[in-house]
Amino acid sequence: MKPLGPIPPQFAALNGELAIGGRTASVLVKEAGDTPLFVYSRKMIEDRLAALRTAMPDRLNVHYAMKANPYGPLLEFIADLVDGLDIASAGEMQQARDAGYLPREISFAGPGKRDRELFAAIRAGVTLNVESENEADRALQMGKELSVKPRLAIRVNPSFELRGSGMKMGGGAKPFGVDAERVPELARKIVNAGASWRGFHIYSGSQALDADALIESQGRVIDLAAELAVKAGVDVPHLNMGGGFGIPYFDKETPLDIEAIGAALETRFADLPAPLKDTDFALELGRYLVGEAGVYLTRIVDRKVSHDTTYLITDGGLHHQLAASGNFGTVVRRNYPLAIANRFEAEGEETVNVVGCLCTPLDRLADAAHLPRAEVGDIVAVFCAGAYGASASPATFLGQGPALEMLV
Ligand SMILES: *Cc1c(COP(=O)(O)O)cnc(C)c1O
Repeated sequence: MKPLGPIPPQFAALNGELAIGGRTASVLVKEAGDTPLFVYSRKMIEDRLAALRTAMPDRLNVHYAMKANPYGPLLEFIADLVDGLDIASAGEMQQARDAGYLPREISFAGPGKRDRELFAAIRAGVTLNVESENEADRALQMGKELSVKPRLAIRVNPSFELRGSGMKMGGGAKPFGVDAERVPELARKIVNAGASWRGFHIYSGSQALDADALIESQGRVIDLAAELAVKAGVDVPHLNMGGGFGIPYFDKETPLDIEAIGAALETRFADLPAPLKDTDFALELGRYLVGEAGVYLTRIVDRKVSHDTTYLITDGGLHHQLAASGNFGTVVRRNYPLAIANRFEAEGEETVNVVGCLCTPLDRLADAAHLPRAEVGDIVAVFCAGAYGASASPATFLGQGPALEMLV
């Protein structure tokens, strides 16, 4: 038997079934018309942001990194709860504009921005977090051609990285950002060229559950921004401090202590280095805001035994939930939190493998999971499906097509 990850404690049963937003899984599936189905809870997103606001200093802005979940209704819903939106492509910019975000609320990071993406962002007035000198030059040139002042910040590749980070995105050679030692010269160039200078973006990692690691990295981000500002002789209108707040996906992982992080930031903000006294600070968070609020519901289409191992075979799989299958940036596969949604209160009775319907051994949703006895027609719930699910999985693999999505 292998342990399952922790089911977020907000989920409760109604008439013995998993309920999301006050409706049972089977009612939700009936409403949507089919499985597989992603369900996202408004209330959980709202509660998460409210708790975050309470824990963090008032001065700190919270941005949503939409790559975590770009589902239109969710994007519209979260717009009223956050102070800005971080995007990483012109496609996301279009989705953001369709959802009603204003250009000045949007910043655009990401390596390899094409000319037409830079052009669209500059014309709209979206802030570009430039990732190289070349990109800065192209943006400045386009600004001239368009006779607009491009809003430019520099994404810095810091020399440190977030300890315990799930995905390393800073420290050493990276495709992201401009190496810190080259930033002052580029900042001066941008300011001297007459662009609208927006400051720095320093992102050092993601999926951290250790508050001390985040406190340390935030401290280093603030120190680095101040040092770069002094060296460059520029001010820092805005500092995107990165994010990296993780959620518990696996057994024995525990929620992040945001009160400790908030208290440490409060202390830092009370005594900021001179170049940052008037700076607008922001966190950019993806999974922390939406990850636990999503559940993936998939129906059991077959139950079979092979060499004494029972398989529950579902109509979903890695084409919608690549991360739960263990194929999205994990070294050792571990089980996500998972349950039989329509037997949510039943005791575990048997040890089974839950798999998807794809013809590949990679398509695993849970290995050796202890679950209530489940039959064909029952609904499996995979939790922590609100981030890096639908849009981060290869939906067209094997001709399957996308899952349904629903915000409740
Ligand atoms: C992916 C990404 C995020 C969001 O990461 P989460 O782990 O979902 O919070 C934020 N900022 C940048 C630059 C990213 O690439």
